[in-house]
Amino acid sequence: MCTRLYRPRGYEVIKDEAINVGIPVLEFSPALGYRVGAKLRDVDILQYHPTRAAWPETIRGELIPEKTRSLGGQLVNIKGELFIYELEPRDVVASAIIREYAEGRGVVTPIGAHAVWLDTPVIEEIREPGTIKRELPALYRMFKRQGIDITVDPILIYPTLHYQNGGLEIDPYGRALKPDGKPIPGLFVAGEVAGGVHGRNRLVGNSLADILVFGRRTGINTAKTVKSNNSKPKISLNHLKVYMKELAKAGVPKTRKAPILLPDYRGEKVLLRSIKLL
Ligand SMILES: Cc1cc2nc3c(=O)[nH]c(=O)nc-3n(C[C@H](O)[C@H](O)[C@H](O)COP(=O)(O)OP(=O)(O)OC[C@H]3O[C@@H](n4cnc5c(N)ncnc54)[C@H](O)[C@@H]3O)c2cc1C
Repeated sequence: MCTRLYRPRGYEVIKDEAINVGIPVLEFSPALGYRVGAKLRDVDILQYHPTRAAWPETIRGELIPEKTRSLGGQLVNIKGELFIYELEPRDVVASAIIREYAEGRGVVTPIGAHAVWLDTPVIEEIREPGTIKRELPALYRMFKRQGIDITVDPILIYPTLHYQNGGLEIDPYGRALKPDGKPIPGLFVAGEVAGGVHGRNRLVGNSLADILVFGRRTGINTAKTVKSNNSKPKISLNHLKVYMKELAKAGVPKTRKAPILLPDYRGEKVLLRSIKLL
């Protein structure tokens, strides 16, 4: 059964944006299915979480809950201007922040990273004093440990790569499908590695429902298939030999550290663009 795998190379791809609670999340497990003939869908779409800590460096990458904005926290640029309605969907808010920074109205942190302000003290003004400690106790403590009182001072945030919307196409039984719509024998898929369950833009929190529903369905069907399969395949490490041959064929240097499976597809143009954004 195939689940999500992390691909550290994501860290290089989008640099500052790729920090997600310390875990770069560009995934490569859909590629494993693709290599055995499975159909991919929507793999161009990655979800950004609008807010993760950008400063101080010790907590850079930690997620700032979206509840901070639903309680009234406002996103403001270096001039103190509100530039986006904070309750827009994730993709709209995240792209507005990235745009604000790219157009020169963001904040550069002391180590040169990207940021905009998230005005947290305004929550206490809109609601009542004590709201932050009551509603966001973990966030309050996280910053307090760094010497920042978020009831008094705003915080620096930036979007972060968060979720792979696309993945392997599956049927309702969790079977990975080929381009002709027929299942690939023995390849069962559940969770973030599957595409299509959330369309091209997952709603907040739906991954939990996804893994419970499809994890169960797929697990049951995997067990049924294994039980009904009388043949006992011989286990070997031959797939590693095949893999090494494929790496050599694709010209991927073998000196790189695992688990990098894909060759570097980025052209000079893309690299130049990402450097310009930094
Ligand atoms: C910071 C953050 C916060 C989130 N918050 C929410 C939320 O509040 N609500 C929500 O619904 N969703 C949330 N999500 C999304 C959700 O957590 C994921 O979509 C979900 O956990 C994916 O589950 P999974 O089982 O598909 O993959 P994973 O949870 O990534 O499981 C894959 C497993 O495979 C293992 N593995 C990797 N490589 C190998 C290997 N080679 N061999 C064997 N095992 C391997 C990994 O160790 C891991 O345990 C959040 C995601 C992030 C990153």
